[in-house]
Amino acid sequence: MITLTDIHKSYYTEAISLHVLKGISLTIDAGEYVSVMGASGSGKSTLLNILGILDSYDSGEYRLNGTLIKNLGEKQAAKYRNEMIGFVFQSFNLINFKNALENVALPLYYKNVSRKRRNIIAMEHLDKMGLKDWAHHMPNELSGGQKQRVAIARAMISNPKIILADEPTGALDSQTSMEVMGVLSDLNKQGITIIIVTHEQSVADTTNRIIRLKDGMIETHD
Ligand code: ADP
Ligand code: MG
Repeated sequence: MITLTDIHKSYYTEAISLHVLKGISLTIDAGEYVSVMGASGSGKSTLLNILGILDSYDSGEYRLNGTLIKNLGEKQAAKYRNEMIGFVFQSFNLINFKNALENVALPLYYKNVSRKRRNIIAMEHLDKMGLKDWAHHMPNELSGGQKQRVAIARAMISNPKIILADEPTGALDSQTSMEVMGVLSDLNKQGITIIIVTHEQSVADTTNRIIRLKDGMIETHD
């Protein structure tokens, strides 16, 4: 499903260039449940952003379902993203002035789905996350674990094949972290490919494969 071949990526700021990914080659099959670990600054988020077609790379090849993801225009990139990928972030990235239901429904607004229909679909996804009774609550009325489940419902509303999660438990206590990992594990069992970045070994241990990054290179595959 995902094939990276010798991916290099540098950031250029003023006079300085920073070589962040130094030849990443990696295959992730459909249905895998993978974590990416590594010290802060090792390039985990950069890698995830490339996988999510949120960022470009300098050389190498990224193939997603056989399609070469390279030099895409923003429209094409958005098309592949919307068809394939859901995102989950450490800080939830919910809109504070919209309730849980509206947050989950938002991606459908951009697909011109009617309000009535998007609310019905959003409620189904909230229900799957056990949050039906919280649909009309605002984000600041929800616990961290509830907010992350709202964010996962929002990621799932476009029926993605892949969930990319950057430190999804980074803002949660350990018990809540395990609850959120349970939700992701259930989605994986339904066939969704899941790739999560984490620096917590206990979180990584719940996935089926750990990819370790060190200084922009893959250290070990388990
Ligand atoms: P990680 O997620 O593993 O902590 P990142 O991929 O976020 O690492 O960052 C890797 C390195 O690239 C860090 O040194 C970071 O400061 C740098 N970096 C990340 N994003 C940018 C950017 N947009 N511009 C310049 N440098 C960046
Ligand atoms: Mg990061």
